[in-house]
Amino acid sequence: MKQTKLTKAARGRDCQIRVPGVCNGNPETTVLAHFRMAGTRCGTGLKPNDLQAAWACSACHDAVDGRGKTDFSHDELRTMHLEGIVRTLDILVAEGSVAA
Ligand SMILES: [Zn+2]
Repeated sequence: MKQTKLTKAARGRDCQIRVPGVCNGNPETTVLAHFRMAGTRCGTGLKPNDLQAAWACSACHDAVDGRGKTDFSHDELRTMHLEGIVRTLDILVAEGSVAA
């Protein structure tokens, strides 16, 4: 997969999704977790843009993408993923990586 500026920027950062009881809190496992949603570019072979994504540790990434088993509903995990995106964007704007 092509590495973009924002996928690279995710490396070594703190997880912003923080699923309770799931998050491993290990920045070394952090990746940019894209949020797939109808009405945005997310069809076959398409990936959402890099601002539609949250910094996620490997455990939270598995949880929000439905690979890991959790006690949370699909909707709860979607909300946590979205909140993670807002936190990630807030940091990117504060650091000047993204203009607001
Ligand atoms: Zn996490």
